[in-house]
Amino acid sequence: MTNYLFKTQNWQAQMSDLITDPAELLNILQLSPAQLLSGAILASSQFKLRVPRAFVDKMRVGDPLDPLLLQVLPHHLELEQHAGYVTDPLGEEAANQLPGVLHKYKSRFLLTLTGACAVHCRYCFRRHFPYQANLPKENDWLAMQQYLLDHPEINEVILSGGDPLTLSNRKLALWFERLESLPQIKTLRIHSRVPIVIPHRIDDEFLQLLANRKFQIVLVVHANHANELDDFTCAQLKRVAAQQIWVFNQAVILNKVNDSAACLVDLSQRLFQAQVMPYYLHVLDKVQGAHHFDMQPEKIDLIYQELLASLPGYLVPKLVREIAGENNKTPLYGTNTF
Ligand code: SF4
Repeated sequence: MTNYLFKTQNWQAQMSDLITDPAELLNILQLSPAQLLSGAILASSQFKLRVPRAFVDKMRVGDPLDPLLLQVLPHHLELEQHAGYVTDPLGEEAANQLPGVLHKYKSRFLLTLTGACAVHCRYCFRRHFPYQANLPKENDWLAMQQYLLDHPEINEVILSGGDPLTLSNRKLALWFERLESLPQIKTLRIHSRVPIVIPHRIDDEFLQLLANRKFQIVLVVHANHANELDDFTCAQLKRVAAQQIWVFNQAVILNKVNDSAACLVDLSQRLFQAQVMPYYLHVLDKVQGAHHFDMQPEKIDLIYQELLASLPGYLVPKLVREIAGENNKTPLYGTNTF
C-alpha cells in the first residue's frame, strides 16, 4: 500500500513526521465512516493520536477492524467512565521516590528519562501519567546516584516509558556511562515499543552503543500481534540479538486485537523467528479510557490453556497482572486471582 518516503528516512526523520491527525490516518487507510472520525477526534482531545508511518504501513487498507489500527485509533468509547477504571491503576505516583524514578520492586529501579513515545497505545496504563511534572533534570543524577548507593539491593535499572528509545543515542550513551559507573548495577533493561513501530531505530550507532558494556543489556520490546513483525522488523531485532543482547517481548491481551489462541500462537512463533522470546502476556491494567479492551477472565483462561497446549513451554509467555503495592507481577494462570 505504501508510497511513503519513510523507508528511506532515518528514525529521527520518522519521529518528526508522526501521524497525529485522525483524518489523515483514516484517509491513508481508505476508511471513511463519519462516526469513526468524529469519535477519534473527540477521544484524541484527551490522549492524542500519535502513530509512525512505518507502523501504519503494516495495517490493512480498508479494514476498520485491523488489529494494529485498533491499538492506536482513538475511539469514542474511551470517553466512557466505568467503575474500577482509574487514572493511576498501578499506584505509580505513590512509588515515585525522585523525579523520574519508580522503585516498586526490591532489586529493580525504574527510570523514566522522557515522557515521549513514538506511538500512543490506547490501552496504555500510563496514558494519564503526569510525565512532564516528573522528568528528571540534569542535576537530579546526583540524588539518584545517592539513592542507588543507599539501596545496594538494587542491581538492575529499567529504562521505561515514555519510551527511552525516542532519546538520541548521545543521550542514551550519557546515561549508560552514568549507570555503569556504579558496580552494583549488573543489568540494564530497556523497555521500548520503538523497534516495533519504527524499526529503523535499530541503527548502527545504537548497535555500537549496546556492544561491550560493563552490564548485561536486556531489550524488552512490545508487540501484541504477529502483523507488527514484518520481515524488516524481524531482521532489525535479529541485529540486536546478534550483539549478545537478550531480547524479550511483552504483550497485552486485548479485546478484538489478539483475543484468540491462534493469534497469540502466531505472535509467539513470529517472535521466535526474530530471535525474541515471549516474556509476559499482561491482562489489561484497569486504566480509565481502556475499558473496551478488557476481557472476561474466563475467556483469557481458556485462551491461555490453549496456548499451553499448542506451544512448547519456552514460547508461552507468563500470564500476569500487575497489582499496585505487590512485590512482583502476579501470575494468573490456575490461581483464580483474575
Ligand atoms: S509505547 Fe508504551 S508507554 Fe508509550 S503509549 Fe505505548 S504502551 Fe504506553
